[in-house]
Amino acid sequence: MSDKSMSGPNGDQPPARLRAVDEAMRAVLIEELSPRLRGKLIQPGEPAYEERRAVWNAMVDKRPGLIAYCASTADVVAAVDAARRHRVDFSVRGGGHSVSGSALCDGGLTIDLGGMREVGVDPARRAVEADGGCLLADLDRATAPHGLVIPSGTVSTTGLGGLALGGGFGWLSRRFGLTCDNFRYLDVVLADGTVVRASSTSHPDLFWALRGGGGNYGVVTRFGLRAHPFGPNIRVGAALYRPRDAGAALREYARRLPEVSATVGWNVSLKRRMPPYPFVPPELVGERMMMLIAMWLGDDESPEGKREIERLNSTGHPCVTTTEVLPFAEGVQKMLDDEFRVGRRCYTKELHLGDLTDEAVDALLRFWAHMRMDGETALIHTGGAIGDVPEGASAFGNRRSPLWMVLDTHWSEAAQDAGNIGQLRRVADAVAATTETNAYVNMLNPDEADRVVEALGGEANHRALGRVKARYDPANLFRSNWNIVPLHDG
Ligand code: FAD
Repeated sequence: MSDKSMSGPNGDQPPARLRAVDEAMRAVLIEELSPRLRGKLIQPGEPAYEERRAVWNAMVDKRPGLIAYCASTADVVAAVDAARRHRVDFSVRGGGHSVSGSALCDGGLTIDLGGMREVGVDPARRAVEADGGCLLADLDRATAPHGLVIPSGTVSTTGLGGLALGGGFGWLSRRFGLTCDNFRYLDVVLADGTVVRASSTSHPDLFWALRGGGGNYGVVTRFGLRAHPFGPNIRVGAALYRPRDAGAALREYARRLPEVSATVGWNVSLKRRMPPYPFVPPELVGERMMMLIAMWLGDDESPEGKREIERLNSTGHPCVTTTEVLPFAEGVQKMLDDEFRVGRRCYTKELHLGDLTDEAVDALLRFWAHMRMDGETALIHTGGAIGDVPEGASAFGNRRSPLWMVLDTHWSEAAQDAGNIGQLRRVADAVAATTETNAYVNMLNPDEADRVVEALGGEANHRALGRVKARYDPANLFRSNWNIVPLHDG
């Protein structure tokens, strides 16, 4: 199998073309689905249509022929059955955060899980059941009152579905692993309309593939998750640097990073405009500032944690340092939401880095000094428990990198697209030239089909994913995603 076997969202070389939802097909689907859905069908022209076709990245402008807004697993089964019977092109929408816009199917049927957001918690067993359309905030809201967490992502409006099936990195990953490392089971609507439970003992091949292989195998209508005792608060240290002090601090950060234990997540954020976080003095709000953020991923009152956060705060020459004990679910998990609101134009370059070289620091600082768009360059501390899972035990590859660089930027004018994308690509290339890198399938832009094999763990992993695909979706109906083409080689 070559790289050509992978295509971008709504790929251009499907084995057999699927039909669009034109007026005639829309009428057929409405007649069939209306009596079967507990949710609703949303057609072009209805007010809800514009709301449900909007996704996080405003560069995506797709117009589904019909949206099946599902409220139950039976609704999803009905929608998948109809799409298969009529050979209609379809997509699955979770939280709508995929930068590539794969949640929507231009001219096809979008199966929208927005009506499926219930979360159940069994505190005694530390077991959580979350519907397939949950946002991360739904999970945190349900687990926090029990002193439990599921490790997930850093913006609370992101969908659990897309995030977890592709991996799922967040502030707590160094201690508790990726979101997909905490699956107990998954209830999946397959392409043939059957519903199966995938776990380590039931359809283990499917369970393996769903931990990193994305939405290629079916619609996950329920996530059975393992929760961990944590919180309700987290100890966070922040050190702020003016541009003239950022280089020395970042080099010292790179030197100290390997000694830090897995109970700490030590992250960097280079802000073009410092937001009004509670710990930022008013005169620094809106300034170009670098921030080192050290999070203690254990008991917020532990003396060891207090000492370690103070030690890390002393890196370089910060103009402000602070240590805060903040609520995790309602505070830290939502801290970035306002900066990364739905509906801005976005191109997110990311790389998993083998290390942070002096040359990479120079490239990042040059970019930051001339950055034209809003947002930040983040270095998120990975490693720790992520690397404790043996390679091959899940489909998720790329567990070894200690840092995840994300150029998380956004702007509002289409006229800025080409210039900004060019600037982002150049800095990512400059950093990539300095160290070993890996890619993350959940952050690929629509024009990055060339990174998909790497993002899915390399050739051998990719072939294994193709074989599982051949078993569970042989006709490649689930193709509005970073598509894994079925590999029928035995
Ligand atoms: P959607 O766009 O709704 O779906 C993307 C794809 O996922 C769909 O095409 C479908 O194939 C599949 N899918 C979604 N739900 C299901 C389901 N229930 N069953 C089957 N398939 C499904 N990633 C991280 O790991 N950590 C982060 O901290 C992080 N932060 C982010 C912050 C922002 C602002 C953004 C835009 C993205 C971030 N991401 C992060 C990337 C994120 O993991 C992906 O964008 C992911 O696709 C979001 O999932 P979603 O359900 O919202 O996406």
